[in-house]
Amino acid sequence: MSPDDERDPMPDSPPDSAHDPAYDRALGMGCPISRRDFVNGMAVAAGAVLAPGRMLGGHPWWLFQDGEYAPERDPHYYPPGLTGLRGDHAGSFEVAHQMRDGGAAALIADARPTRETFDLVIVGGGISGLAAAYFYRKTAGPSARILVLDNHDDFGGHAKRNEFQVGGQTLLGYGGAQSLDGPDNYSPAAKALLADAGVVPKRFYTAFDQQFFPSRHLGNGIFFDRETFGADHLTTGAGAKPWADVLAGAPLSERVRRDLTRLYEEEHDYLPGLTRAQKRARLARMSYRDYLVHVAGVTPDAIPYFQRITADLWCAGIDVISALSPYNDGFRAGYRGMGLGDEDPAPGTRIGPTPPDGEDPYIFHFPDGNASLARLLVRRLVPGAAAGTTMDDIVTARVNYAKLDDPAHTVRIRLNSTAVRVRHVGDPTSAREVDVTYLRGGKAWTVRAPHVVLACWNSVSAYLCPELPEPQRQAMLSGVKEPFVYTNVALRNWNAWSALGVNFVYAPGSYYSIAELDFPVSLGTYHFARTPADPIVVHMMRAPCKPGLARRDQYRAGRAELLATPFEVMERNTRDQLARMLGGGQFDPARDIAAITVNRWAHGYAYEYDPYSDPPPPKGQVRPCVMARQPFGRITIANSDAGASAYANSAIDQAHRAVAELGRAVTSGQ
Ligand SMILES: Cc1cc2nc3c(=O)[nH]c(=O)nc-3n(C[C@H](O)[C@H](O)[C@H](O)COP(=O)(O)OP(=O)(O)OC[C@H]3O[C@@H](n4cnc5c(N)ncnc54)[C@H](O)[C@@H]3O)c2cc1C
Repeated sequence: MSPDDERDPMPDSPPDSAHDPAYDRALGMGCPISRRDFVNGMAVAAGAVLAPGRMLGGHPWWLFQDGEYAPERDPHYYPPGLTGLRGDHAGSFEVAHQMRDGGAAALIADARPTRETFDLVIVGGGISGLAAAYFYRKTAGPSARILVLDNHDDFGGHAKRNEFQVGGQTLLGYGGAQSLDGPDNYSPAAKALLADAGVVPKRFYTAFDQQFFPSRHLGNGIFFDRETFGADHLTTGAGAKPWADVLAGAPLSERVRRDLTRLYEEEHDYLPGLTRAQKRARLARMSYRDYLVHVAGVTPDAIPYFQRITADLWCAGIDVISALSPYNDGFRAGYRGMGLGDEDPAPGTRIGPTPPDGEDPYIFHFPDGNASLARLLVRRLVPGAAAGTTMDDIVTARVNYAKLDDPAHTVRIRLNSTAVRVRHVGDPTSAREVDVTYLRGGKAWTVRAPHVVLACWNSVSAYLCPELPEPQRQAMLSGVKEPFVYTNVALRNWNAWSALGVNFVYAPGSYYSIAELDFPVSLGTYHFARTPADPIVVHMMRAPCKPGLARRDQYRAGRAELLATPFEVMERNTRDQLARMLGGGQFDPARDIAAITVNRWAHGYAYEYDPYSDPPPPKGQVRPCVMARQPFGRITIANSDAGASAYANSAIDQAHRAVAELGRAVTSGQ
C-alpha cells in the first residue's frame, strides 16, 4: 500500500466550496505545485529567488542588468515554462489601462528616441503581427528592417505555449489558440504563409491519433453540478449511447429528460411550411434559448443544460446567441428534421471536437496549439531564434529569447513593450514618418519609421492613435473582445478518466463548462501519453458570461470578473471541479495535480457578428470592423479584430491586406 492509499477519504465540498480548511487541504490547496513561480503575477526565472522588498518599480531587481532593462537576455528567461496566472499576465496590461484612462501624456512625457532605423514598426506580436512582418519582408525584401512590439513577456499573442515538467517529462499545452481550423480552406495568402513556415496540413492525419480515445472506450461525459441541478452526477457515453440511457440517473426531471432526448434524437420540423431560406432567416432573428422554449416547446427547466453550449465558440450563453449559430457551428440538438441544409459551417468558423458531415476533421493541432505557428514564423524571421527546419522539430525546439531583439538582425521582436502613442510626424496626409512611443521597463522610448501596422486589438488602437478619425475610433470600440479562461492542469496520471470512460466532459453549471484530456498528438520527438499511468495535460475552459445582460455587456462584466479574481480562487475552483467530476474514478486532486496554469484572456476572441445581437447593417452600410480597418496615412490596421473573426486565418489575411495597403511606398522604400 502506498502512502497515498492511506489518505483520509475526500470530505464533501462545503456548501460554497470556499475557505473550509479541511476541504482546502483535501483539494491540495497547500501542495507545493509550481504555481508559486509567480509573485504578484511577475515571472521569476527558474532558480532565481525573489526576496520580499526587492522590487524596483514593480519589477524584480535582477531584470535590470547593467542599468538596461533586458529580461530576455537572462539565460533563464523562458516564459512558456512559467505556471500560475498566464494569458494576459500581470505586467502586460497596466500601462495600456493607464493609457485608456487618459494617462498617455504622463506616460510618454520623458520619452527618448531609440535612434534605431526601421522601415516598419508593428504593434502586436501575435499571429497577425508576425504575419505582417512576414508579408512585408516578402514584398520589401530581406533587407527590410522591421520592429515588432508586444506588451506580453512572450510572442504569439493568443497563440500561447504552456510547458510543464512532470516526473522528468516535458508536457506541452495550449494556453490560447487551439488549432488551425480547416487550413485547406484558407486563402491563398494564408496557405502560402503556412507552407513557407513549414506547416504541412496532411502531416496532422498521422500526428493526430483519431482512434486513441475511441479505442480505449473513452468518450463524452456530462457533469451535472449540485449547485445548478441539485446533485453532483457524471454521465458517460453522450453521443454514443441512446440519450435515455445517458440521462438515466441524472438529476433531471422526467420532463427535462424527455425533452433532451427528443431534441437530440427525433427528426422534427419545428417551422413547418417555411422554405429553408425562411427558416434560416427566422432562426437568425431569435436566440437559441427562445427557439428552444418558444418554438421547439422545451420546458424552461431544460435551459440550464443548454445555457453554455455556445460558450466555447462565442464566450456567451444561448440567451444572446442566435438560433442559427449553434447549427452553423455543428450542434444538432433541435435541428434534426429541420432541413436547414449543409452549406454551413463555413470554413474557419468552428472550434469543437465533432465536425459536421463532410467537413475536415478537427485535427490540425500542434501540442502547444497555434503557438507552434507563431514559433515557426519567428524561426523564419529571426535567425538563430530556434533550431530545426520542420513542423515536427519546432514542437520541442527551445526558443532563444535573447536572439529576438538582436541589433544584428533585420527583424526584431521586442517583448515587454507596450505601445502608448502612435502619431504621424506632421500632417497624416503628407507625413513621411510615424512616431511610435512605447514603455519598456518603466521607461518611455520613441521609434520612428515610414510605416506602421497596428496588429494589436482595435480597442487598444482607438486610444493608441487618437489622431484617427472619430468615426473610425468608435467603430474600433464597438467590437468588445470576448473574455475567456483556458486553464491547463498537469496531471501525474489520468487513471480516473480512464476508469470513468471519459476524455471530454461538458459541465453546464460548473466554473468551467468544458474539461478534456489533451488531444492525442505526437510530433517529432514529442509523444502523447501512452497509458493512463502517464502524465497528461487536462484542458479546461471558462467563458465568464453573465446571462441577462446584452451580449457586449456580458463581455465587459466577464472581463471585470477575470481581472478581479485572484489565482487562488481559480485554483480552488479548478481543484474542486476536477475532484467532484472525477471522484467516482478515485481522482485525488492533492495527489494527482502536478501544476496549474490559468490563461486569463480578459481580451480574448475577436468580436464576431452573430445575427441575433448584430443584425446585418442596412444596404449600403458596412460592418464596424470594415470601417475600423481603413488605412490612415502611413498606418494600417491588421489583427483578427479587423476581420471580426477569431481565427488564425483571419489574423493572417488581415495582416496581408494591411501590408498591401502600405502601398507603393513599401516597394519603393520611401
Ligand atoms: C482562448 C482562445 C482560443 C482560441 N482558439 C483558436 C483556435 O483554436 N483556432 C484559431 O484559429 N483561433 C483561435 N483563437 C483566436 C485567435 O485570437 C486568433 O487565431 C489569432 O491567434 C489572433 O491573432 P492576432 O495577432 O490577431 O491577435 P492577438 O493574438 O491578440 O495578438 C495581438 C497582440 O498585440 C498585443 N498588444 C495589444 N496592445 C498592445 C500595445 N499597446 N502594445 C504592444 N502590444 C500590444 C496583444 O497583447 C497581443 O499579444 C483563440 C483565441 C483565444 C483567446
